[in-house]
Amino acid sequence: MSTDRFELVRESFRKKAPAVEIPSRKASEYFGEQVFDRAQMRKYLDSDTLQALLECIDKGHPLDRATADGVARGMKEWALEHHVTHVTHWFQPLTEGTAEKHDSLIDLDGKGGVIETFDGRSLAQQEPDASSFPNGGIRATFEARGYTAWDPTSPVFIQEDTLCIPTVFIAYTGEALDYKTPLKRSIKAVTDAALPICRLFDPAVNKVRCYLGWEQEYFLVDEDLYAARPDLMITGRTLMGHMSSKNQQLGDHYFGAIPSRVAAFMRELEVEGLRLGIPLKTRHNEVAPNQFEMAPIYGDANLSNDQNQLVMNLMNSIARKHGFVVLLHEKPFAGVNGSGKHCNWSLGTDTGRPLMAPGRDASGNLLFLSFFVNVLMAVQRHNDVLKATIASATNAHRLGGHEAPPAIISAFLGRTMTAVLRKILEVPSDTPIQIAGKKERSVGLIEIPEIFVDNTDRNRTSPFAFTGNRFEFRAVGSSANCAGALATLNAAVAEQLLDFKKELDAALAAGKTLPVAVMDTLKPIIAKIIDVVCFDGNGYSEEWQQEAVRRGLDVETCVPKMFKAFTTPESVAMFTRTGVYTEKELAARNEVKWDIYIKKVQIESRVMVRMAINHIIPAALEFKTRLLQDVALHQQVMGGFDGCQTELDLVRRVGGYIQEISERAEAMRQARKRANAIEDEYERAMAYHDIASQIEELRRPIDKLEELVDNRLWPLPKYRELLFIS
Ligand code: ADP
Ligand code: MG
Repeated sequence: MSTDRFELVRESFRKKAPAVEIPSRKASEYFGEQVFDRAQMRKYLDSDTLQALLECIDKGHPLDRATADGVARGMKEWALEHHVTHVTHWFQPLTEGTAEKHDSLIDLDGKGGVIETFDGRSLAQQEPDASSFPNGGIRATFEARGYTAWDPTSPVFIQEDTLCIPTVFIAYTGEALDYKTPLKRSIKAVTDAALPICRLFDPAVNKVRCYLGWEQEYFLVDEDLYAARPDLMITGRTLMGHMSSKNQQLGDHYFGAIPSRVAAFMRELEVEGLRLGIPLKTRHNEVAPNQFEMAPIYGDANLSNDQNQLVMNLMNSIARKHGFVVLLHEKPFAGVNGSGKHCNWSLGTDTGRPLMAPGRDASGNLLFLSFFVNVLMAVQRHNDVLKATIASATNAHRLGGHEAPPAIISAFLGRTMTAVLRKILEVPSDTPIQIAGKKERSVGLIEIPEIFVDNTDRNRTSPFAFTGNRFEFRAVGSSANCAGALATLNAAVAEQLLDFKKELDAALAAGKTLPVAVMDTLKPIIAKIIDVVCFDGNGYSEEWQQEAVRRGLDVETCVPKMFKAFTTPESVAMFTRTGVYTEKELAARNEVKWDIYIKKVQIESRVMVRMAINHIIPAALEFKTRLLQDVALHQQVMGGFDGCQTELDLVRRVGGYIQEISERAEAMRQARKRANAIEDEYERAMAYHDIASQIEELRRPIDKLEELVDNRLWPLPKYRELLFIS
């Protein structure tokens, strides 16, 4: 085994990038060619069907059977031209990742042969036998019926030989069983709540849109080294491993030259992504060795989130072609940065007005401030449940660990916007808010520079940051479905906008002009948030922990406890009022969250114990035996122990760690037994929360042994071997 390790390392070092087939066409020519988008719709659908489908997409009309049949006919023709043989409903269950069940297009033709069939019914709805997807008790297993239904706002696409139909996944009793449904509900809630406010400023606005631009971080490891690490293979992270002498301290990886093997992988990923209509824009090295990031141009939140799910799948399959495995785990390696997924989020109108960016004039700025301030208020009111949305057993390793994100949800505004808000509190309500740079017209006291000074002065420690024309929710985990976090953010903002509009209407009814009414309504909100959720300091510092408690922000660090925030009266009121989750769905989702937490920790704990017993202790014992043989030989030849102090000292230390490992492993096994006997889901998750820390305790003596035991005997690829792709 030990020699194997060196061979693996040498081989992985020697590997060269495979040749990637680069299309000779320009990206603009193959962009979206695998997607049944509007251009294809126009080409393959008759005009009545096209008209009806566009109404469904743009106005949210339900899809009737005749339209579905018409769409299916055109889609089938398109698909067959692209050599499609199978069709699947593609959905996003609560397991994270996507699910699909492929059906062949063939059917018996009654004459001894087969024909390709695809009709409106198979397009619109499927009933996957979905009893084993997590549902938190909404569907008892004997009533295993759920169904998937096409979401026409997400275009159908082709992957390999399969036509993929993005769908929602719902129980027959109506509850959402997936991530997409609440996301769609939340987009409706927030855009509906924003619309009447926009219309006060500009009656030409007919629709508000919700945008997402995600930044996906990930690690790559060589697949042969990966396969030699049971912990990586089974849990997605290294449960043990001493830090490499060099990791990220020189900062030489971040934005460094992309290694050629990785560049080849990225190139292929981009081509495939572009063909699927994903506007991939940036790629670069991240801070940790072997860590990278990619981001598309932002788009409608529902579609952009589908695309993120799709990219995560693509990454996995393309990486294997390049001899890599992608790690989307939030913390695959201790001691270097983990991976997150920044969700850049904003609202905008159908008239092209971004709502999270300053406007062209005083009125535009007032509109911007209305949204800006209400988003902050929403984040403050629901900071506990926002944190709960990003909490998971895997993201727990980053939360509060002196790296992004801190376990306190605060918002970073930057100097400029902080000054603007403070100023508003001091000036009369009829003060116009001017854009600096247009000084000649400026008569007001409040100025927002056209180019934000703070744009470059980013605070990387903040979980929720304003970055000039959007907010960046940075606490989301790399493996997560962004929809979980976005549904809550949208719901919270929708609720706050509804409250704001009510106050504003009252002020207008009292005869105030729009600018004065808005300012008068905003001022008390600003006063509430400016010294609470708004925080521009170091989010990792000790002082901030204490300060946050004083400010009344949620500082809970225990993940199973965090989930309770979903079902507090405030959260239930927010979610039900905005129609994003029913109370039953909230309870069910919490059950699922606890259950997944338990299972993840349980699996880690089992893997940890087995590796300790089957890999680590045998290697350490072998080393100890060799040392003892050495000492015995020495004693025979030299007639005493003089001169073997190092060996004897090593024997004692190694022996001590072996003892500690077996004791801790046994204690953890017992703890698991006790935990498994607990009936209540939450209490069991709490017991597993303890086990999670026992895993880290068991890791310590193992990592110590890695430092002591003869390198040739160590059975697992070490960090220094895993982390530096050449
Ligand atoms: P950085 O790493 O500096 O934050 P990136 O360029 O890596 O920036 O990613 C920024 C992301 O934010 C991209 O996906 C980009 O399209 C997106 N974005 C830019 N403007 C907006 C906006 N108004 N609303 C939502 N997302 C946006
Ligand atoms: Mg960013």
